[in-house]
Amino acid sequence: MTTPDTPVPVKPKRVSCPNCGGDSIYAISNPFRPFCSQRCKNIDLGAWASESFRMPVNSMPEDQLTDPDGEFSSSANH
Ligand SMILES: [Zn+2]
Repeated sequence: MTTPDTPVPVKPKRVSCPNCGGDSIYAISNPFRPFCSQRCKNIDLGAWASESFRMPVNSMPEDQLTDPDGEFSSSANH
C-alpha cells in the first residue's frame, strides 16, 4: 500500500567544501553550506575577517597611533 504523497527521496547535492575541499552537502540540512562543517565555515570567515582587518592596520603608520585628541600634549606643554 502506497500513499500518493510519499515524499520522494531527495538526493542531497554534494559540493566541494571551499575550505578543506571535502564533500559538503549543499542542502537545507547543512546550515554551514557550502562548507562541510561549522569548523570550516568559521575558519573561512575568520580568515576573511582577519585579512580585512589587518590591511588598514598595517598601512597605518605608527605616528597616527598617537593621542587623536592632541589636547593632552598641548595642554601639558602649556
Ligand atoms: Zn570542510
